[in-house]
Amino acid sequence: AIELSKRVQLIKPSPTLAVAAKAKELKAQGRDIVGLGTGEPDFDTPEHIKQAAIAAINDGATKYTAVDGTPELKEAVIQKFKRDNQLSYEPNQILVSSGGKQSFYNLCQALLNPGDEVIIPAPYWVSYPDMALLAEAQPVIIETSIEQHLKITPQQLEDAITENTRLFVINSPSNPTGVAYTMDELKALGDVLKQHPNIIIATDDMYEHILWEEGSFVNILNACPELYDRTIVLNGVSKAYAMTGWRIGYAGGPADLIAAMKKIQSQSTSNPAAPSQAAAQEALSGDQSCIKPMLEAFKRRHDYLLEELNAIDGITCLPSDGTFYAFPNVEGLIKKLGCDSDLDLAELLIEKVDLALVPGSAFGAPGHMRLSYAASMETLEKAVERLKKVAN
Ligand code: PLP
Repeated sequence: AIELSKRVQLIKPSPTLAVAAKAKELKAQGRDIVGLGTGEPDFDTPEHIKQAAIAAINDGATKYTAVDGTPELKEAVIQKFKRDNQLSYEPNQILVSSGGKQSFYNLCQALLNPGDEVIIPAPYWVSYPDMALLAEAQPVIIETSIEQHLKITPQQLEDAITENTRLFVINSPSNPTGVAYTMDELKALGDVLKQHPNIIIATDDMYEHILWEEGSFVNILNACPELYDRTIVLNGVSKAYAMTGWRIGYAGGPADLIAAMKKIQSQSTSNPAAPSQAAAQEALSGDQSCIKPMLEAFKRRHDYLLEELNAIDGITCLPSDGTFYAFPNVEGLIKKLGCDSDLDLAELLIEKVDLALVPGSAFGAPGHMRLSYAASMETLEKAVERLKKVAN
């Protein structure tokens, strides 16, 4: 066997992608698998966005661009930050990358040293801890409970901070919980961070547009503008515009940090795909009305799923503020079925009733299960039926 780097042995493959792969494999064997594993809108990319990419290709967008994105796309990002977030950036404060995933990767590589600590509230997006580990930093996880609505308190944040804390990550609305922090909650967290000037803050706003209450989105910079000089805002087009396959994410933040992230990108992937950049430009600056019907569909599915899940003995689910995830506590069900853990329950569900869900452990929250409702109503109804079959 080939001896691999210590670095790669620190991490595991993305568990959500692993569930999707397993579901696909079983499907290929002819099993009627219902998969609520992936965090991917089931809608097609809106037509005007696709057309913009096609026109760009015909116009010669087939070459390298500037590493940090075309000037036109960066301008669209700047205008978007102004329009939606009341945040002001210069072009040297913006970096476009191949997905929000690469934005966060660049950030970790550009900022973190061995021994640095990265504070990550659980339940968390699966990639944060592993990307911190890849940068040889130490993830510091803050646990939450359903009683505190799966959100951290200012006291918990204060308690987690040490002299080694370098980065604090906040993702609201959250994958996997679907809950969002309020302005007041963000302000209280910001008050803690104000006392610790060495900490950089990353706000991952990927689900900003998928919020039930229109116009309700706020991030920590809106709540605490004093943190502007050490906050990086991460976002992308994957979720809001059903553009997961185009691979465009972007970041706005301090110019020196952005320059360092750009340097990492220049020696790894260079610019994101040129046609995708043209598509993202249209997504951000074109007609925004394409978001609403998708949002309404997600909300209908959320309402359906919430009611059905809470009606099952052994499952307790909080209402989400947005996203397309439900993250019920399933400890009762685990016990009832004699399973050892959420991992065990996930195995049982796929083996017994062909239902693929991602166990909460993948997100740092054992005893839970993530259901993505970026799936048709028909699929969700099937999923509920199968869950009931197992639970009763
Ligand atoms: N951040 C969060 C919270 C996510 O859920 C995801 C995707 O699952 C991403 C970032 C990255 O998305 P992408 O790389 O498609 O832009």
